[in-house]
Amino acid sequence: MPADSFRAPPAVAAPASYVPTAWSQDAIVQSAARYLTPSYKNAPLVFERGEGPYNIAMDGTRYLDFSAGVAVNGLGHNHPDLVAAIADQSRRLIHQSNYWHNAHAVPLAAELCTRFEQACLATAGVALQARAFFCNSGGEGTEAAVKLVRRYHSRVCNHARPGIVTCKGSFHGRTYAAMSATANAKYQDGFEPLVPGFRYAEFGDIASIAAQIDDSVGAVLLEVVQGEGGVCVAPPGFFRDLRQLCTERGVLLGLDEVQTGFGRTGTLFAFEQEGIAPDLIWLAKALGGGIPVGAVLARQEVALALQPGTHATTFGGNALVTYVGRVVLGVMDRDGLVDNARDMGAYLLQRLRAALGDHPAVRDIRGRGLMCGVQLQGDVQAVIAQCRQLGLLVSLAGSDVVRFTPPLIVGRDHVEFAAAQLAAAVRTVLGP
Ligand SMILES: *Cc1c(COP(=O)(O)O)cnc(C)c1O
Repeated sequence: MPADSFRAPPAVAAPASYVPTAWSQDAIVQSAARYLTPSYKNAPLVFERGEGPYNIAMDGTRYLDFSAGVAVNGLGHNHPDLVAAIADQSRRLIHQSNYWHNAHAVPLAAELCTRFEQACLATAGVALQARAFFCNSGGEGTEAAVKLVRRYHSRVCNHARPGIVTCKGSFHGRTYAAMSATANAKYQDGFEPLVPGFRYAEFGDIASIAAQIDDSVGAVLLEVVQGEGGVCVAPPGFFRDLRQLCTERGVLLGLDEVQTGFGRTGTLFAFEQEGIAPDLIWLAKALGGGIPVGAVLARQEVALALQPGTHATTFGGNALVTYVGRVVLGVMDRDGLVDNARDMGAYLLQRLRAALGDHPAVRDIRGRGLMCGVQLQGDVQAVIAQCRQLGLLVSLAGSDVVRFTPPLIVGRDHVEFAAAQLAAAVRTVLGP
């Protein structure tokens, strides 16, 4: 073994000896149009840093962030425990391949599987054992889920049931299978041919889903609350009926909890509010608090379909991201953030209804925990831009919904500010 000059890192990192030159906000915005694919319609704003639920732009303007990187920054920005976790683990080990075990993927899998098992038992009386597969994003979670359900039928059950039912208005990501699962022409346009085998039904409509299930269908995959589709909540009892239908027809029920999961809706998993136990779920967005990590959790019999060599990812579940996932979950537990999401979510709906409930341009105000939407008639993009002028960041969902997905750390004053600014923006743009 060669004499090593790379000894253990210092306990406190030295200042970086290589620092890239800083660009101005103008240079960044202008060069984006030259160097990036025009895939995103970016607002001309660059954030320099964050503080809890706030974002500070390069020009010093401060914003209350009720988008949170689209439901990602559950602990808010620059949470001290998250910062310390990233620093600590990066001094130890960032990445090794999945040829070896790593010290945090297994404990995080144990923690997530235990929570999933407990949730299934508590909500539906179903005792099961779960296993986890780590990936890097929501779309990769969908990919893994699609591969898993197909391989379960073809290799565990030894029958061909490749068909998968998903719901109109859904969003499951942009990779090919995820895009094919996403029953929305807007996301598929020009990318044909899609991955075959997907069939689309109406969200929240049990008869519509039943009509799509025949002997070639192996799974129904859907969100618990449709996020990108417009914060759409299914009618009461829908998921119980769906669970029963899937069980009767020998079809797996998989829930895309990429956006709803990890506390956002007021329970760790959104399905806990539906009285059912799914066969598999997948998580991403908030799981890493901003560090890319995703996980598929599946009932053991199903999970065993992914035998050695069947599915893999280079980065999936590396030491850094899984350590961070453990810290995010630990902080959420310690600080009661799931309960806070439930309470602040209810308060947000209440304040939004009080401020806007009788406004003629407001068609609906709905949500679950800290995943809320205000459906408007009129120029929603202009309302969102006006919110930004008033110091509030929110995002568009569907074609006509202002979506609130704040960090789970927000308090009553943040909620009051957000509801008041949206009401002001609606009145400015759409009339008093
Ligand atoms: C965001 C989202 C995805 C895709 O996640 P990516 O990390 O962007 O690939 C999938 N499903 C749902 C429900 C989402 O909200």
